[in-house]
Order: sequence, then structure tokens, then C-alpha cells
Amino acid sequence: MKKGLRDTARRGLARPGEAGQGEAGQGEAGQGQGTLTQRLRTLSLGLRMLDVSVAKVQRSNDDFYQSTQWRAFTRQIVAERGRVCEDCQRSVPVPERIHSDHVDEIHDGGARLDPMNIRLRCTPCHTRKTIATRTVRLSRLGSRTP
Ligand SMILES: [Zn+2]
Repeated sequence: MKKGLRDTARRGLARPGEAGQGEAGQGEAGQGQGTLTQRLRTLSLGLRMLDVSVAKVQRSNDDFYQSTQWRAFTRQIVAERGRVCEDCQRSVPVPERIHSDHVDEIHDGGARLDPMNIRLRCTPCHTRKTIATRTVRLSRLGSRTP
């Protein structure tokens, strides 16, 4: 039951990529005038494929962050280190969330369950760091675009 739902979701994810390839084929077969239009088409196809691959990575990471293994691991780290933000040294009171952040992100090949790769952060520090990382990643992706 649950597995069936997941398979449907996966197939749903794969579809935009397939549709994109079909459209690009038509584009190349077209008039052959206006190289800029073609270039834009290629670029948008590239971006669309990128979206799909990013979505897949995020999906598998979501599964991981839901796992009992990850939850037990972070609970232990918080128990060992205390509810203190390791960026601003603020102690984080109980209803407030404390984030277990990967220093080297899983996305970038960082170890998932290595305490050495975990930094505890309060929400403001977590948000700040997430935005900074995303900015760096986007600029790296931007420079790789042909
Ligand atoms: Zn903080």
C-alpha cells in the first residue's frame, strides 16, 4: 500500500524530464533560424533536467531525515552536547527547535551519521547558514552552465 504510493510518486517525478526531451527534439527539427532561440531552448531543457535531479536528491534526503536511525543519532548528539547552538552559543529552550546540521552536506558527499560532521544550530543560525550554502551552490551551478 505504502510502497505503491511511493512508486506512483517516483513515476510522477520522472515524467517532466521525459516530456522535456520530447520538446527539445521538436525544437532542433524546427526552422533552423534564430540560433538564440535554440540556445534558449537548450538552456531551459538543461534547467528542467536539473530541477528533476535536484528533486530526486531532496526526496531521498527527506526519507533519510524521517528515519529512526537519524532521529536516534541526533537525539544522542543533543543529549551529549546539550541544547546549545554551536554557532552563537545560545542555549535553546525546549519548545524551540535545535537543528542538527551537516557540516559537509549529504548533498556534497558528507558523512550522514558521523558526529564529527554535525553542528547543532538554533533556528536563526540554521536559516542563515542554509541561505549562505544555497547561495554558494547556486553560484557554482551558474558558472557551470554553458
Ligand atoms: Zn545560534
